[in-house]
Amino acid sequence: MNYQRFFEDAISKLKTERRYRVFADLDRDASSFPRALWRRGGDHAEEVVIWCSNDYLCMGRHPAVIEAMSRAAVRHGVGAGGTRNISGTNHPLVELEAELADLHGKDAALVFTSGWISNLAAISTIGDLLPDCLILSDELNHNSMIEGVRRSKAERRIFRHNDLAHLEELLIEAGPARAKFIVFESLYSMNGDIAPIADIADLAQRYNAMTYMDEVHAVGLYGPRGGGIAERDDVMRRIDVIEGTLAKGFGALGGYIAADAAIIDAVRSYSPSFIFTTALPPAVASAARTAVKLLKGAEGAELRAQHQRQAMLTKHALSAAGLPVMPNSSHIVPVFVGDAELCKRATDMLLERHSIYIQPINYPTVAKGTERLRITPGPLHTDAHIVDLVEGLVDVWKSLKLPFAERPNVIEFRPQPDARCTLPDFKRAAE
Ligand SMILES: *Cc1c(COP(=O)(O)O)cnc(C)c1O
Repeated sequence: MNYQRFFEDAISKLKTERRYRVFADLDRDASSFPRALWRRGGDHAEEVVIWCSNDYLCMGRHPAVIEAMSRAAVRHGVGAGGTRNISGTNHPLVELEAELADLHGKDAALVFTSGWISNLAAISTIGDLLPDCLILSDELNHNSMIEGVRRSKAERRIFRHNDLAHLEELLIEAGPARAKFIVFESLYSMNGDIAPIADIADLAQRYNAMTYMDEVHAVGLYGPRGGGIAERDDVMRRIDVIEGTLAKGFGALGGYIAADAAIIDAVRSYSPSFIFTTALPPAVASAARTAVKLLKGAEGAELRAQHQRQAMLTKHALSAAGLPVMPNSSHIVPVFVGDAELCKRATDMLLERHSIYIQPINYPTVAKGTERLRITPGPLHTDAHIVDLVEGLVDVWKSLKLPFAERPNVIEFRPQPDARCTLPDFKRAAE
């Protein structure tokens, strides 16, 4: 076996399929986000505007969050120094867990080193603990949930995306006696669509199933205190386990679950991916807690309103220009391309010509033939940034002869009565 050749061939295969990933080396400046320097290698650096960050509310550069992190690092030191069981349970982490339990109206919360690990750990552990459990998993669930489902020894059935009739069919088939565990997301981040949470909770209640919901793309962003879509829709109590990340809306790092005390204690006690790894360090816990707390209050409500405004304005402006925005009712702005090569060329051209950084979304993150740009406006993107984005995208669409929408999806935009900026005059560029 020629090992080196083997790995080179594996990489060539990705390149042929246009799936080879190139990371942009970004030099972010906390004081000018979403602007950043793009380090092109050597001494070359160029200023770009980031349009694909999951730091949705820009909490990663919030002065109070930075201050909390620096202060905790000075006071407690850098690492946690051990697993949760062996000296790693630091006080800021304990406080963070209490903050998160309160956010979701649950008895307790458990923090992991990432959202990915929290899904893997919690789903597999619960699936294994429940005797003869049947896991019912939405077909568009995130990779970390799929890994959790696979890791558990439980039987699994996949239900069609957000398809209540299919889910009900599978629940009936399983019979009333069997343990059933429904795992799904509140907001699916590649399409930006939202699950019928109350209806899923109704089904779970009717057929006596347990529910697990990933709120990763909604925590901090929705609900009066940033508790997510379930808080907004007043259904938090009806979901058994809520999972979230500290790395997106909260701008830090880590993941968590919130649930009844017994469930949390069981995962804490039985999950190898929780037990055998070093705890989240105090400085990160402190930064995350500050972000969670901040977003529970009035400043959070303001940031959420501004975030929604910029997202809706972006959708409206791109649609008005005839760009194929995939409609949804969330803050995610997917623009359809449908081809891996063109998707990569479009984003390269945006970066080179227009200093706009959007990473192409290709297979396996989305299905082949549905490649897209995934745009995530934030509260710090100005109306002028949005105008630049529309102009850049229209130029790229024309240069690459990408199809404009046949009929513009008219996306309503109603500025807040007190909005300082008026709506820019976007024309339909395709004409
Ligand atoms: C990003 C993501 C995760 C993982 O969270 P991290 O904190 O980034 O590890 C989990 N679920 C979904 C739906 C995600 O998009």
